Amino acid sequence: MNIKKIFILIFIVSIIGLTIVQYQYLKIGLNLAQVQFNQKMGLVVNEIKLGLEQPNQLTFLVGKAITNDNTYFKLSIDSVQDASKYFMHDFLKDKLLQQGIKTDFTYIIYARDSTDYLKFPQSYGNDDSLLRYPIPLEGYLPNLVEKGLILELQFKNLHKYFLFQLNVLTIPSIIFLLAICAVIFWALRFFYWQRNLITTTNEFINNLTHELKTPVFSIGVATKILQDKTGGEHEEIIHIIRDQVNKLKNQIDKVLELASIESKKNFIKKSVLDFKPFLLKLINDFEQLARLENIEFVAEVQGENYILNCECAHLENAISSILENAKKYISKKNAKICFSAYKENNHLIIKIKDNGIGISEKDIPKIFEKYFRVSSGDVHNVKGYGLGLNYVKKIINFHKGKIIVHSKLHEGSEFIISLPLKVNGK
Ligand code: ADP
Repeated sequence: MNIKKIFILIFIVSIIGLTIVQYQYLKIGLNLAQVQFNQKMGLVVNEIKLGLEQPNQLTFLVGKAITNDNTYFKLSIDSVQDASKYFMHDFLKDKLLQQGIKTDFTYIIYARDSTDYLKFPQSYGNDDSLLRYPIPLEGYLPNLVEKGLILELQFKNLHKYFLFQLNVLTIPSIIFLLAICAVIFWALRFFYWQRNLITTTNEFINNLTHELKTPVFSIGVATKILQDKTGGEHEEIIHIIRDQVNKLKNQIDKVLELASIESKKNFIKKSVLDFKPFLLKLINDFEQLARLENIEFVAEVQGENYILNCECAHLENAISSILENAKKYISKKNAKICFSAYKENNHLIIKIKDNGIGISEKDIPKIFEKYFRVSSGDVHNVKGYGLGLNYVKKIINFHKGKIIVHSKLHEGSEFIISLPLKVNGK
């Protein structure tokens, strides 16, 4: 499983985990709301008991209604009962509101022998999910009917009521969770879109470079034929053409090499060998070039042999690219390039130091990026495509090595490569 899939998996698991945690919090919240509701109901029950214990306007009216006595009022007994039902409902509602309970309810007053005395018109029937609070009445009303009376408060859909109370927490949690998902999905879409764009651009550049190979080869052959035919005439012009064709060929090869490393189609084969002779030859060639350009070149190669598991040609190319850059980005006066190679902690260390134009601090992290070129100052004078160091980095990574850069603008740069040595052929 690749790293991207692992990240997506971690993200999905985290979102599911977060949802479960939120759900558990919601359940705990609901339980707490229920406990709090019960505590409030305890207070309400006491208040109701006290309110109905003594004779007062309400208990007097209810008393008349439950004893079917309309002698006091000039009204039918039905009207007295209706009025008392609504007054009682308002009394209960008021007591509930005093404790902050604002939900639908109904009530019934019945005797212990199951005779119903007063029933609010709105009835919830015999639903099992009903929450019932039976309140045994004392004092005036039970004395009136000479029976134990119970006032039962009934609540329905309390979960909805609790959820509504918790909405302050649940709705923002859901919104934030959805926002996280939306942002991550957007980022992933953007990432895949960008990856497709990079792949398409790379494919286009690689195809174009391939197409350029044939004309470049033909120009090379034609120049050779022209040189033979003219027999030394126009040598200078032919030399320029050959020079430029060679440069173009080198750049095309670099692009194609990079493409082959990136696609891994062209499997690079490593073999265990002593890299030191190759390194010495490379230094020797470079020394001659440096002498031609009046650059002081100091090389120090320590240690008997450098046994590496490597692809020799690519590794040579990579080191040459750094040396080439040291030559390209040199300052005009007292140009000096130092090369050193030695063994340290089972690693081959190669250092290439120049006193050239240097690289600014902000550009150092970018120089290994494909197509990156420092875009200011004298660097414009030097031609290039920003492929060299990207190639170097890929080759060093392919050899499980490391490359770091120390550089200061106008003072110079030092590239340090570290490659694991093969110890006892292992
Ligand atoms: P190119 O040389 O083709 O531009 P590279 O990938 O080799 O591409 O280098 C990337 C950039 O890093 C160059 O454009 C240059 O600005 C900077 N650079 C590389 N080597 C050196 C160096 N030795 N001294 C100063 N700048 C360097």
